[in-house]
Amino acid sequence: MASKLNLEHPRDQITKIISRIYKRGMTTTSGGNISIIDDNGDIWVTPSAIDKGSLKASDIICVRKDGTVVGKHKPSSEFPFHKAIYDIRPDIKSVIHAHPPALVSFSIVRQIPNTNIISQAKHVCGPIGYAPYELPGSHKLGDVIAEEFKKGFKAVIMENHGTVLGGSDLNDAFERFEALELCARTILYGSQIGTPNYLTDDQIEQFESQTQSTLPEMKTTEYPSDEVEKRLEICNIVKRSCEQGLMISSYGTVSMRWKGDDFLITPTHVNRWDMAIEDIVQIKDGQREAGKNPSRATWIHQEIYKRNPKVNSIIMTQSPYLMAFSVTKSYLNVRTIPESWIFLQDIPMVEYGTHFKANNNSQIIDDCTTALIIENDSVIVTGDKLLQTFDYLEVAEFSAKSIVLGASLGNMVPINDDQVEELRKKFLT
Ligand SMILES: [Zn+2]
Repeated sequence: MASKLNLEHPRDQITKIISRIYKRGMTTTSGGNISIIDDNGDIWVTPSAIDKGSLKASDIICVRKDGTVVGKHKPSSEFPFHKAIYDIRPDIKSVIHAHPPALVSFSIVRQIPNTNIISQAKHVCGPIGYAPYELPGSHKLGDVIAEEFKKGFKAVIMENHGTVLGGSDLNDAFERFEALELCARTILYGSQIGTPNYLTDDQIEQFESQTQSTLPEMKTTEYPSDEVEKRLEICNIVKRSCEQGLMISSYGTVSMRWKGDDFLITPTHVNRWDMAIEDIVQIKDGQREAGKNPSRATWIHQEIYKRNPKVNSIIMTQSPYLMAFSVTKSYLNVRTIPESWIFLQDIPMVEYGTHFKANNNSQIIDDCTTALIIENDSVIVTGDKLLQTFDYLEVAEFSAKSIVLGASLGNMVPINDDQVEELRKKFLT
């Protein structure tokens, strides 16, 4: 994803991202480290043995180009391999290393997750390298990792240890990290309930080559306060989805009907965690705000609003447990608990590719259901108020999670037809 000019100080970027990684459960208090190399060749890095949950900008260490260490702590014990990567790859400006559970699962069974599992991941992660085990903090570990980066990889699984990602900046590295961990989780969870299916390279190419937006640009745009308010609501839900593990930097679209068939939608190629109200794109009378690229899925949102007058907000995303169903073509029976059935009733699944404009699929856009799963791609959730739609997404993800976790205990016994009838009478009529 092309990054905007970012003049945020490396210290602040590092503390922001490490806190994000910690809160998302992708590092422990003591594990993991991040670095950024600046235009002077100085490397800013997380300190050794300081709590990742409460790291402050003043805790970040600078290792100057000449080796002088500036800061109040010792640099990360893994600094040698960060340095080794920068020495060999001038295109890499930031490195993230951590031991996130799903990628560690792959690392300890000595496998590499296949990123053809979801549409955009292969493109975001690139090919994945594999570095054999060496003692942490050793120059030998630096050598085996640098060896993988030398081959051109930007993502490497470290045997019996974790993972290391490089990027053109810290956001780029984080985006790669998040997408790779999502692949790992999707494959792991999917394997609990079935057999994961992988996309062919051609299918991924189809996704990447979708034309961005053929909507004409509007000449002038007005921003009345009710419009601005909806932008804010969208940004808040996008951020909350990221924080709750229901969306990642590189994928996810949120929109809200404004008036008539006009609506506001998130753009393509903007990091979801940092989405600002100026990034949101207005679609009015079938035209887009000048100079902006709305989501590739804009046509789906546009058609849903046109054909479903009761739908006023839409979330399209990849959440790990729903993706487990999506990649295994397993039917998600929402008759798990009353809440789940009352909100969702049924979640149909459509084939990969039916969400491309060229294949204009009526099942997605006519009489759309509250939630619908697209194979190996995403889930689409619709509703009236945006917060309500977000709640439906959470309910669907929780149900999917309960089924995945319960799979090892025994067969799920769904709520029966009589009980469903009882729920229908009490809650839906
Ligand atoms: Zn480590």
